[in-house]
Formats: sequence, C-alpha cells, structure tokens
Amino acid sequence: MRNSMKLTFAALPENEALARMAISAFILPVNPTLEQLADVKTAVSEAVTNCVIHGYPMGGGEVSLSAQLEEDGLLTLEVRDAGVGIANVEQAMQPFYSTDRAHERSGMGFMVMQSFMDSVEVRSALRIGTSVRMEKQLRQSQEQPAKMA
Ligand code: ATP
Ligand code: MG
Repeated sequence: MRNSMKLTFAALPENEALARMAISAFILPVNPTLEQLADVKTAVSEAVTNCVIHGYPMGGGEVSLSAQLEEDGLLTLEVRDAGVGIANVEQAMQPFYSTDRAHERSGMGFMVMQSFMDSVEVRSALRIGTSVRMEKQLRQSQEQPAKMA
C-alpha cells in the first residue's frame, strides 16, 4: 500500500467541501488527470451528500471518509454513516429512485457514482448505517499534474 487516510466529520452540508478537498489532496501525488480528479471528487460529494441528507434526516451524526491508494494507482475509498440505513439497496440504486421527492431530488446520485468510478458497492442495515465502497484505477498521467482545487 502506498498511502491511506481516514477522516471523520460532522454530518453537515458544509463538510462536503472538506471531503472533496481531502480526497483531492490525497490522490494528487499519483498525478491523476483532471478528469479523474473531477470524477473522484464528484463521486465522494454524492456519497457524502447522501449520508448527510438521507442518513441523518433528523440531523446530528458523523460521516467517515476513508481511502487507500496502492502502488499501481488503484484508489479504494469508503464513505460511511451510522444513520437510518437503506431498507432496499437494489431499489435505492435504481436510476431516478429517490425517497426525497419533496426536495425534488433526481435520484441520480448512485448512478453518478457508478459512471464516474470503476466499481460501487453499497452495504446498509436499518438503524445501523450505510457504507459505500468505490474503486477507481488512477493511472500516472503524462499531463501536467492538476493543481489543488
Ligand atoms: P440525488 O442524489 O439525485 O440528489 P437522491 O439522493 O435521492 O437524489 P441517490 O443518491 O441515487 O438519489 O440515492 C437514492 C436513494 O437511496 C435516496 O433517495 C435514499 O432513499 C437512499 N439513500 C442513499 N444514500 C443513503 C444513506 N447514506 N442513508 C440512507 N438512505 C440513503
Ligand atoms: Mg443523492
């Protein structure tokens, strides 16, 4: 393993930016392309937003972002909450499925994660919480390294 990290923060919308910055800084040493950097940040953002909004509908709680980077540039990350959990994961992952119609959510979050990452695995249990594990192969880019955004 080349590097690893774990960050735990309060489940607040403003900490979405913190998670994006943290994952950017974490993967920067392997010189991801700008596209890879944007993809990873977006996937993390969607997962963290889900924890904040759906995991803790009554507020409170914590979200953890952990990540590992292998020598060959394989990124594995996990976004986890100890919130309400998902009754039916398969259904929740269907495109356009959302339990939050009131706020006009589109139900695209999991689809975005799946399209931007190589794999997405969701584990959840009611009243215990939800874990989203994602992988992406980051290749050493020939381009100029992306600057911290
Ligand atoms: P969008 O992401 O487009 O704003 P959304 O959040 O409803 O809409 P998804 O991100 O695809 O869509 O999530 C689908 C559904 O899965 C959510 O509406 C919610 O019911 C459930 N869900 C997702 N993440 C969690 C979580 N961490 N805890 C509890 N429920 C979740
Ligand atoms: Mg979502």
